[in-house]
Amino acid sequence: MTPPRISADRLWKRLMALGQDGALPNGGVNRQALSVEEIRAWRRVIAWGTEAGLVPSTDPAGNLFLTFKGSAPQLAPVVAGSHIDSQPTGGLFDGAFGTLAALEAVTAIVEANLAPERSIVVVGWMNEEGSRFAPGMMGSELFAGLRSLDDVLAVRDADGVSVGEALTRVHEAFPDMEHRPLGFPIHSYIEPHIEQADLLEKSGAVIGIVTGIQGKKTYEVTIAGREAHAGTEPMERRQDAVQAFARVALMMQQAMAVDDKVKFTIGRLMVEPNAPSVVPAKVTFRIDLRHPSNALLDQLDTQLEAILIKEATPCSFNIRRLVDAPSNDFDSGLMNAIRSSAKRHGFHHLDLLSAAGHDARQLAPLTRSAMIFIPCQGGISHHPEEWAQPDHVAAGAAVLLDLLLQETGLSSHQGDA
Ligand SMILES: [Zn+2]
Repeated sequence: MTPPRISADRLWKRLMALGQDGALPNGGVNRQALSVEEIRAWRRVIAWGTEAGLVPSTDPAGNLFLTFKGSAPQLAPVVAGSHIDSQPTGGLFDGAFGTLAALEAVTAIVEANLAPERSIVVVGWMNEEGSRFAPGMMGSELFAGLRSLDDVLAVRDADGVSVGEALTRVHEAFPDMEHRPLGFPIHSYIEPHIEQADLLEKSGAVIGIVTGIQGKKTYEVTIAGREAHAGTEPMERRQDAVQAFARVALMMQQAMAVDDKVKFTIGRLMVEPNAPSVVPAKVTFRIDLRHPSNALLDQLDTQLEAILIKEATPCSFNIRRLVDAPSNDFDSGLMNAIRSSAKRHGFHHLDLLSAAGHDARQLAPLTRSAMIFIPCQGGISHHPEEWAQPDHVAAGAAVLLDLLLQETGLSSHQGDA
């Protein structure tokens, strides 16, 4: 029997074809969650999966599953994939690579006439990017029970369309598709993805063994003062929200510089009334704070609030915690398996932490999970110029295939690194 082999050519052609759905004139992709472009992409991916004998299904969260049914379907399946939605100025590889690499690896198993006991499910999680409906990771968070379905369905885009309405349109476009309940037991989860940074490229590695994803906290802070005439109001009587913000922002920036792994960003700022000759009454801003250590993140959280108490006066403030996503470690057994596979293929590999968030963060507490990174040219992502080399794309899929064979018991290779 010939061992299963991925087709690098087919995978590459499919990646390019998927890029047609939501194609931008500059070569990028705008395929936001639950859009008509994503419906077209679903059609394409489902057609490819069906051709290989996979069965499509969806759930109340709008996740897309393609199942290669094992001979013992009562066993928890191995799940692999990523997402096929994109940023409004996205590229061809973020997310799409993971879902199509998984489809390619499963197709290779089917073509080799192998019959695993355990089913293998290819997944495309709903709204990873969070650009149309914020915040992202909706599909995987709902799957993991981290958010309430009602809350997510009520989220609206800039045009006032809710997730619930957009999702109904997606489901109506596939009337014959099987619907499954939200969440199911998973044997293991593997997500291939482009690195979206340049550590692999710089070190000449082809396969990244992701050790974990750094934690992230986001906040919305409001500093409230009082409007006044810029010419007549005495300085000592002012409650100037911009002056208070400036003190707060500077102190936060300094306090967060405890080590170079802390990533602190004030990325959005709104001033009211935002008039040139009025003392500002209100400043609303967003903080994005990331670090691999949850303990440090919690410490920094306390400091942010302490700085507001000290520096916002004479204005008042309110701090609202939006996202609290802890860092996670991936499964060491699966990491060893990725390492062994890379060695067998002769791919240079590197252990690295993911600085960006991924759906795998939500899966990691549920089941043994891992991520396989491939290099991303110049570290450019969320940009039309996002690019991955064809041989790197093929390498990532080949390593995933090895893991699927191991996780379904079709291969005796073990994580022996
Ligand atoms: Zn992604």
